[in-house]
Amino acid sequence: MKIGVLALQGAFIEHIKILRELGVEAVEVRLPEDLAGLDGLIIPGGESTTIGKLATLYGLVEPLRAFAEEKPVWGTCAGMIFMARDIGRDQPLLGLMDIQVERNAFGRQVDSFETGLDVPALNNGQARPFPAVFIRAPRLVAADEEAGVQVLARLEDGTAVAARQGHWLVTSFHPELTGDKRFHQYFLELVRSTT
Ligand code: GLN
Repeated sequence: MKIGVLALQGAFIEHIKILRELGVEAVEVRLPEDLAGLDGLIIPGGESTTIGKLATLYGLVEPLRAFAEEKPVWGTCAGMIFMARDIGRDQPLLGLMDIQVERNAFGRQVDSFETGLDVPALNNGQARPFPAVFIRAPRLVAADEEAGVQVLARLEDGTAVAARQGHWLVTSFHPELTGDKRFHQYFLELVRSTT
């Protein structure tokens, strides 16, 4: 299995490290030709406006959309913003998932926080919460269930912070920063079941 990590800006090295620890071949993606032969792609956290501008500059937007039609893609934080159809403002987006996302949704005082999440798709239960790190994170404002979007995790107040639509996955938080590999394993399962 070969997984690419979009390496225009942001936390791509951390994803590559975890993928390699899981025994998966992981490569940095900067140009359209880097997508050839990949089984899946991760779009990391960072700054979604920068990622969007660079993707436009490098001619990556259409190749990424074409890739995503066929193959699993997982966006974390800024990656989630980039994958959304609607973020209520104008910036370059892949516009893949039928979700509405609000950037920087957690206010200034709490720009960053960590919390234990119950994620039923990981079968973790209350006993083994997933450590989720939020850094100037977005939230899911709306998810189109009729289009097949399934919310995978919520904060205690009900805010949706992870979702899946077919072979596309998004998380508001940064699973690559905690050393907990369960979300990466979940994505790799998704890739295995798609290939
Ligand atoms: N605030 C960033 C944005 O709007 C996302 C932050 C992150 O990826 N940690 O793109």
